[in-house]
Amino acid sequence: MKDEHKVLLGWRDGRLYGVDEVPSGLACHCLCPACKSPLIARKGQKVRHHFSHHRKNNCAWANETALHLLAKAVLEQGHVIKTPAVRIPRYPEALYPIRVYDIGRVWCERRYGRERPDLAVILSNGQWLNIEIAVTHFTPAKKVAFYRKRHWNAIEIDCSDLMDYPGNREVLTRLLQQRLLQETDRKKWLYHHGQALFLRKLEQLAERRKVRHYPWGKRHFYNIYGCPQHKRIRKTAMGKRVSYASLTQDCWHCPYLLQQYVDRTGEQLVPDSILCWGRLQYLFDQEQEGQ
Ligand SMILES: [Zn+2]
Repeated sequence: MKDEHKVLLGWRDGRLYGVDEVPSGLACHCLCPACKSPLIARKGQKVRHHFSHHRKNNCAWANETALHLLAKAVLEQGHVIKTPAVRIPRYPEALYPIRVYDIGRVWCERRYGRERPDLAVILSNGQWLNIEIAVTHFTPAKKVAFYRKRHWNAIEIDCSDLMDYPGNREVLTRLLQQRLLQETDRKKWLYHHGQALFLRKLEQLAERRKVRHYPWGKRHFYNIYGCPQHKRIRKTAMGKRVSYASLTQDCWHCPYLLQQYVDRTGEQLVPDSILCWGRLQYLFDQEQEGQ
């Protein structure tokens, strides 16, 4: 029997059961948490104990749903959740730090049109937090777009390793408690509205600087003048000192590079300009302090 047909936990009377908490076979009286069809508890000598669907069907969501339901119970009993720091691309410091929130109500797989957040939580600050539990696959781009469009904060928690644990409810509960409530290193923001607003502000106020192209034999130099970091200094023919940066050696490694635009009109893609927020450090500091 292939692993994906092994069901970790069964559903009975509104709660989840591990396979070792119930009698063998159909006498377990458990249903699949996802499709609600009867499960058999298989407790043979050779294979690790598990549940399987009594009748063959195409249900592939039993374990996902089981973990979602278990995660809901963990959140409801856990009272507080830690959210990861919010960062912006390339910049070493966090925009907002790790935070701890009290948990209000929790919903599991509530449907919104075609999408269904795995879990949705009301936090002590009155805001919603959606949670995706990544088990067999990570959150698809379509669902991330769904959160972005609605401006709904959402995190993804990597639980892909939990499928390797035997269907022991207590062990899974303990692991989920760590993963959901305490740790932050396996959590990542799929969408954070504060971060999105801040990035939009940066994009509006950042300077667009032209990339100057200097072919030199077989080599090409791409320079940008007026670098706020004063990466390189050059004297003009008039003896004036100007600061500039090399696109490839400076800007590509610079935390203030927000975007790079390329010229697609020729046969080859050529760097055209960049968006630099090197003069907007104060905005970052204000945002960080305002929290
Ligand atoms: Zn099922």
